[in-house]
Amino acid sequence: MKDLQVGWNNGIVISTRDTLLTFDPQNCKKTVSGSIFISHAHNDHTKGFDSKNQKIATQETCELYEAKTRTKADNKKVLSYSDKIRFDDVEIVPHDSGHILGSAQFQIRTPFGTIIYTGDMNLLETLTTKSASIVNCDILIMEATYGNPFYAFPEREDTYGNIVSWVIRQIRENRVPIFQLYTIGKAQEVIALLNDFTNLPVVVDPPIARASHIYSKYNHKLVFLDSTEEEGQELLRHGNCAYLISNGNSNMIPTERKAARSVVTGWALRFKTPNGAFPLSSHADYPHLIDYVKEVNPSRVYTCFGSSEVLAQNIRKECKIAARPLPTIEQTSLMNFIHG
Ligand SMILES: [Zn+2]
Repeated sequence: MKDLQVGWNNGIVISTRDTLLTFDPQNCKKTVSGSIFISHAHNDHTKGFDSKNQKIATQETCELYEAKTRTKADNKKVLSYSDKIRFDDVEIVPHDSGHILGSAQFQIRTPFGTIIYTGDMNLLETLTTKSASIVNCDILIMEATYGNPFYAFPEREDTYGNIVSWVIRQIRENRVPIFQLYTIGKAQEVIALLNDFTNLPVVVDPPIARASHIYSKYNHKLVFLDSTEEEGQELLRHGNCAYLISNGNSNMIPTERKAARSVVTGWALRFKTPNGAFPLSSHADYPHLIDYVKEVNPSRVYTCFGSSEVLAQNIRKECKIAARPLPTIEQTSLMNFIHG
């Protein structure tokens, strides 16, 4: 396929001789050529919003980004799932990637074959997301965050049950259960869990509150209190409640109260002291990634992010499909290809 280039150049780059597209660029202080596609609102995928180029994302991704950063996403083109956008000989269609609200995988139809870039994906339905759509393609560019066979998550319902049991135990022992987690995605799943299966009030820090309002608007009505408002503060001082704080936020509860901390992340499978660490992830685990490749059945797979080498090796072995980590394309070679 010498008329098509696929690789890594400060993001995922897909280029024909007429069209250059960059997906999830990592650093927009560098020059990024062409239009920019942003798969979802997590920090490591939204650097493209810093660019002056046209940005393409779902409405939910733009709003979550704006709520998180409190800056306006400008020069943007909003697409819904299954909408199409065309650049010369290439057509791009976003589909649900099942990872967080508004997360997209991109189907890129070129004269030389169809490509899928998965972004971050989850292949299971959760309390706040549907499972990723399965879309056939010739070339699959897939995330490998949990692309190591070590990562096989327990049944989600079991983890939900363990979280609720842990919360009940802390309340009975007069401690405030505190969850430290991702502001977007994981926090809303835990709020939904506590809303749907307990009567316990949920207090959240302001970044989680801003993201949760957007989930409530588009997806799942969430009931929570902001920790900076009077009612939330009163509960943290004297009442029974769960408290959700963003990763990196060291906000604590009033010192006179006892608290128990927990973390909610797929990486918890690695933790040596599993008490209060719950392996709930917004990503697909290894067995699901392999099943997904078998179902999509592309002729070639490129892996990126996380365990890309290990996953590529195992796809070759288990799926008998050509696979390798996404190769780097130097800027000069990219420009020579387009203008050559
Ligand atoms: Zn993500």
